[in-house]
Amino acid sequence: MITINNFINGTFKAPASGEYLDVYNPSEGKVYGKVASSTSDDLEEAVLAAQKAFPQWSGLPIAERSRILLKLADLIEANLDQLAAAESMDNGKPVKLAKSVDIPRAATNFRFFASAIVNESSEAHIMEGEAVNYTRRAPLGVVGCISPWNLPLYLFTWKVAPALATGNCVIGKPSEITPYTASLLCELANEAGIPAGVFNVLHGNGAVIGQKMVEHTDVKAISFTGGTLTGKIIGQTAATQFKKVSLELGGKNPVVIFDDCDFEEAVSTSVRSAFTNQGEICLCGSRIFVQKGIYEKFRDEFISRVGELKVGNPQEESTDLGALVSKGHLEKVKKYVDEAATDGGTILTGGKQLKFGEGYFFEPTVIEGLDEYCTINQEEVFGPVVTLVPFENEADAIAKANSTQYGLASVIWTQDVKKAHRVAHQIKSGIVWVNCWMLRDLRTPFGGMKSSGVGREGGSEALRFFTEPQNICIKM
Ligand code: NDP
Repeated sequence: MITINNFINGTFKAPASGEYLDVYNPSEGKVYGKVASSTSDDLEEAVLAAQKAFPQWSGLPIAERSRILLKLADLIEANLDQLAAAESMDNGKPVKLAKSVDIPRAATNFRFFASAIVNESSEAHIMEGEAVNYTRRAPLGVVGCISPWNLPLYLFTWKVAPALATGNCVIGKPSEITPYTASLLCELANEAGIPAGVFNVLHGNGAVIGQKMVEHTDVKAISFTGGTLTGKIIGQTAATQFKKVSLELGGKNPVVIFDDCDFEEAVSTSVRSAFTNQGEICLCGSRIFVQKGIYEKFRDEFISRVGELKVGNPQEESTDLGALVSKGHLEKVKKYVDEAATDGGTILTGGKQLKFGEGYFFEPTVIEGLDEYCTINQEEVFGPVVTLVPFENEADAIAKANSTQYGLASVIWTQDVKKAHRVAHQIKSGIVWVNCWMLRDLRTPFGGMKSSGVGREGGSEALRFFTEPQNICIKM
């Protein structure tokens, strides 16, 4: 049994309450450890430690902060195998995915923002003959980073890295469901030379300790990634203090496949965009709209490729889909698939739980015969389930793509560049991929429209979020 404790002031500490929550290995359906269940007492201690560390950390020369964070990136890479194995055990994802995507990206997050701070330029606005204005961007102080369970270390570090790089002290709250790699990161943070109190991690139930972090008046900003309902609660709580929030929320992403697409690329990438990480990526395309002329051909080829995916033990290199993250999540996915069938949908492949011991496995599932307004095409399933829906023309495709409350990401497949621009400009989503998926340049703004979020992360957007601009006007 592994015990995962809080990390406060550079030291691992048992929670003040002495209470712990069970942590499961989802591929075995068994408890593998326990994680601290934090309360306000732990938060107060972490806030004090962070406040104490702030003057020194924010006062360090940028080059020195950058050097420390680059060292942390190197240490993540040096420990890739251990971190990937931990991520796979904790989340259920295939270890090959953790090795090739999650953990390398965590290292890249630190390297990217460590480089960004030394390359960022400041702004000046000159009033000819009168005055000069310059913009100073100061760190906020103590900030909170709250992350979900689907890409645990990847998304946690996507927040922590820019927060630390800009000189803030951090209290991180990973999901209680997948807390392991965030805890391993704390060991590496000490080894990299991050001073005590600069980076703290509190574990526990989001509705308890996460909520307390949002309520705390000395936590100056909250960067949150998670579900839309949780985001709403956080937004409401933070608004009463005019606290800065960045909310990266749910999605119901459309994939629009025109009949002039590169067929092979469209099919193979759509299989990836549907089922990578068991469909538990906020960017997965879960509604596939296919133009009528190629609908049958696409459907048959898509189903045949989905049939080749191997679901099984996430620790085996040949596995394509591992286990869903929890029993509760498995039940939620099952419920949505059952409801789709009741609504008149035809399950073309999959649709059932897979029995490997006590693990939470579900077949990759493809459903057709439902319109864009039924429950499964409106609500986020966040599992290995996609629907296929035919469309007539450009206008129909755009209307169908925009028919949900979400607006995180979308994918367009066409070889007509003018059409790609036209359609992209009319789809209401923060990211539009044309003829590709998950191609990420960390300098670009990342985030959602509508109920998919408020604010943007990535590149200078993240550096701006974690700093307060101050204009200084000097008369000439
Ligand atoms: P949740 O919203 O349930 O949880 C996210 C985090 O918030 C967890 O650490 C959780 O803790 C914590 N939390 C829960 N309640 C509160 C609260 N009241 N105050 C503060 N923190 C709280 O999301 P999931 O973990 O289930 O993640 C899946 C969701 O995340 C999906 O909707 C998905 O689309 C979205 N997501 C969005 C992304 C984006 O970039 N837009 C990227 C990845 C995922 P605990 O787990 O301990 O309850």
